[in-house]
Parts: sequence; C-alpha cells; structure tokens
Amino acid sequence: MKIVQRYECEHCKKLFKTPDRHYCKMNSALKNCYTCKHLKGWKEGERDSCYQYPPSPDCEHCESGDIDLETIKSINYDMQCEHWEQGQYDRDKEIIKEIAGIGW
Ligand SMILES: [Zn+2]
Repeated sequence: MKIVQRYECEHCKKLFKTPDRHYCKMNSALKNCYTCKHLKGWKEGERDSCYQYPPSPDCEHCESGDIDLETIKSINYDMQCEHWEQGQYDRDKEIIKEIAGIGW
C-alpha cells in the first residue's frame, strides 16, 4: 500500500486529488445563493413535453427567472450577486415550512 495525498476544501470539507479543479459553491467569496441568507430554498424546475428545466433559487431578490441551477454551475458558482449577504442555507426551516404546508 502506498500513501496518497489529498486536498481538503476549506469550505465544504470534501477531499480531492487535485488542488485546483474544485469550484466550491460554499465559498462565500463567490457570492452565490448557497451561502446567501436570502435563499429560502429551491423551486422545482418546470417541465414541458421534452425538457425538464433545472431548479431555480427561491429568493425574493432573484425572481427574474433567468437564473437557475445550470446557469449558476456554468459560471462556477461565481455570481457576485449584488443582493448577496452572508448566511447559511437552513434546511430545518425548509422542513418546518413543508410541515406547515406553506411555501413551494
Ligand atoms: Zn468545496
């Protein structure tokens, strides 16, 4: 057996073989939805006869509809959103909303 080296992402704690190919969505310098306190959850993408649209952020500031998960990924999560504020996407709140029957 041989010892191998791994790189740990300081933001999401995942391990990688290479130090420079991971664009972390949890990096707050990128100012994207994942680290923004305005994100309430994700809206299910619409579906038409031949295409399932990707989910989009449920955010009071991003209602234009032209931002979705694929767009965010395609720019390596580097959104520099002007409404971005440091926060933590809170799954517990989402579950509470679901139980109460409110929301998406
Ligand atoms: Zn990461």
